[in-house]
Amino acid sequence: MSAPTLEPKAGFEWRKVIWGRPDSPRSVLCSYCCATIPDEDVPLILWSEKGYAAQFCKQCRKTWWGFEEFDEEFDA
Ligand SMILES: [Zn+2]
Repeated sequence: MSAPTLEPKAGFEWRKVIWGRPDSPRSVLCSYCCATIPDEDVPLILWSEKGYAAQFCKQCRKTWWGFEEFDEEFDA
């Protein structure tokens, strides 16, 4: 069984991705645009073959990965 391959959109530059070391705590910054990822956000996390992790903020998920996300409305 193989997982579907996630491909970034044209213009994405892998060399701009800041991969986090496997033994370092997860950063709060987007690995691509360095925006702060808020606590309540769930970043897209990619793992390299060597265990390095990269995470993407909401804007990058939309811009580069084509994720359509909607802000949840909290109606009390
Ligand atoms: Zn970003």
